[in-house]
Amino acid sequence: MYLGLSGGIGSGKSTVAKILSDLGAVVIDADAIAKEVLEPGQVGYESVVHAFGGSVLDTSGNIDRKQLAAAVFQDTSQLAQLEAIVHPAVSARVTQIRESLPANSIVVYDTPLLVEKQLQDQFDKVIIVIADVDVRRSRLVSRGLDTSDIAARIANQVTDEQRMAVADFVVTNNGSLQELREHVTQVWHQLTA
Ligand code: ATP
Repeated sequence: MYLGLSGGIGSGKSTVAKILSDLGAVVIDADAIAKEVLEPGQVGYESVVHAFGGSVLDTSGNIDRKQLAAAVFQDTSQLAQLEAIVHPAVSARVTQIRESLPANSIVVYDTPLLVEKQLQDQFDKVIIVIADVDVRRSRLVSRGLDTSDIAARIANQVTDEQRMAVADFVVTNNGSLQELREHVTQVWHQLTA
């Protein structure tokens, strides 16, 4: 079974992914794969250096992701060029990982952009994590993000209503970690029943 997991910034996706992993799921973290494919020797590295030049490399020869983000920020054609490199590389890697797993695995693909990229049809079921904006804000502030950055990021993302429209399961995460664990465990029981 292939599950999509998403939610707004600070909603608790990674925490839900960890709970699902504890319950027996195999979690694939889209952000981690996107980083991996840009490491030296990986498929996206040469393409990025070729397309964007040596200025996106740090002194050790690794791609400086902040530099790269700055280079494509506000330039839609450069952003499209970067996405055309990263997305196929991520898809290929995810396919490779899935093919290496036993057929009865429950695989969770954790991606912030599931709805933005309209990926919902790829999955057997979609789990969406939601939490009130003020709850998300205070969790993110305690993680060190500043409030204007949080507001800008939330404004840049789709709304929880848009996410819920594609959800098979909605996990509300306004309460304690214990409540979250109980809710996710209920979802897991429904999935595995
Ligand atoms: P991002 O969009 O930044 O990747 P995320 O949606 O993956 O965030 P998490 O990293 O899981 O969210 O959660 C954000 C922060 O809130 C983390 O520090 C996490 O430990 C904390 N957190 C999540 N759920 C709860 C909860 N129910 N109670 C207390 N803290 C929580």
